Amino acid sequence: MERRAISISGIVQGVGLRPFVFGLASEFGLHGFVKNQTGGVLIEVEGEDRSVDGFFLALMKRPPPLAQFEEVSWTSCLPRNDTCFRIESSSADAASLIFPSPDVATCADCLAELFDPRDRRYRYPFLNCTNCGPRFTIIRNAPYDRERTTMESFVMCAECRAEYEDPYNRRFHAEPIACASCGPRLEALDAQGARLASADPLEAAIAALRQGRIIALKGLGGYHLACLAADARAVTELRRRKQRDAKPFALMVGDLAGAREIAEVSTSEAALLESRRRPIVLVRRRPGADVAVAVAPGSPDFGVMLPYTPLHHLLLRTLGSLPLVMTSGNRSDEPIAYEDDDASVRLAGIAYLYLTHNRPIHMRCDDSVTRIVDGKESPLRRSRGYAPQPMRLAVECRRPTLALGAS
Ligand SMILES: [Zn+2]
Ligand SMILES: [Zn+2]
Repeated sequence: MERRAISISGIVQGVGLRPFVFGLASEFGLHGFVKNQTGGVLIEVEGEDRSVDGFFLALMKRPPPLAQFEEVSWTSCLPRNDTCFRIESSSADAASLIFPSPDVATCADCLAELFDPRDRRYRYPFLNCTNCGPRFTIIRNAPYDRERTTMESFVMCAECRAEYEDPYNRRFHAEPIACASCGPRLEALDAQGARLASADPLEAAIAALRQGRIIALKGLGGYHLACLAADARAVTELRRRKQRDAKPFALMVGDLAGAREIAEVSTSEAALLESRRRPIVLVRRRPGADVAVAVAPGSPDFGVMLPYTPLHHLLLRTLGSLPLVMTSGNRSDEPIAYEDDDASVRLAGIAYLYLTHNRPIHMRCDDSVTRIVDGKESPLRRSRGYAPQPMRLAVECRRPTLALGAS
């Protein structure tokens, strides 16, 4: 018999590592526990030597897809004759370096549920699971547990609670788990910030877009301003109200086929567009694309992104996949608005309608902007989907060095 205590740091919280470890320990017939701790994750397993070795190797060789191990250390300890494997509650002890997971675009499983009329989360704009959903932007503190996120105030209903506690469910310990009966809700506000009581919020937003209006949309890391990209009058008006002269606006399209209608998209650009980071990718515009000139005056490129939240998917699909301008919710040179009261003040006079919700954004995070240069990704703005993941430098710094990006 052997008992091994394994500490892992890096991107290990909010990436489905605990349920994964639970499954792996069951596979190898091991007992013990896994828990988040402030510096990362602590695992203790006991069982036959061979099984403990097998468990450790498997964990190192094929960790869950979103995890990124920085440091792994382990020690042998005396067996305690545990009789099962448990996910223990977190210990929030000594403060130390922690990298929460970046936000992750809606996964294929969740997307299938979103548009499945038989599913209990059919058309629910905030569904997510252990493999996708908000992370960095909702985490208030380490370790990553629901009570330290902006989901704290939403009390899980019995059905969500059962999924959250079932080790064989894909929402086992998915901290932002939610459904229409217990989770965040959409709301539509008029230009003055008064709630539109009558209409379905999503329908109201779509009707406004179709009428050539500019709307403000609360996303993962802040507000966007949106209008139909083909509507020259709306785009020109948005440029005037944002006081933005010529800098291109980003576009959101429903899917890859939609991106290919307006731009030339190479295989590597397509992979980047469809990646779980879902950045804005600079791609060569297609001549004759049905996009207003004012979107990117004089530029050979468009900045294009695909939907990355369930709300975006609902919006684009209900709209019949018409390309949308989706630009940061701010006036020229200001940071993106992300707090509800602040947004209604700062975007006053720009937005005709606010499509918002009651899940607070803790950390502001703008869309990332990237491109492919000589077959390799060369980011221009590394933010949502990337932050706060560290970057390893190819060279060693001889003295402590601080590098800061522009906001
Ligand atoms: Zn998912
Ligand atoms: Zn629920």
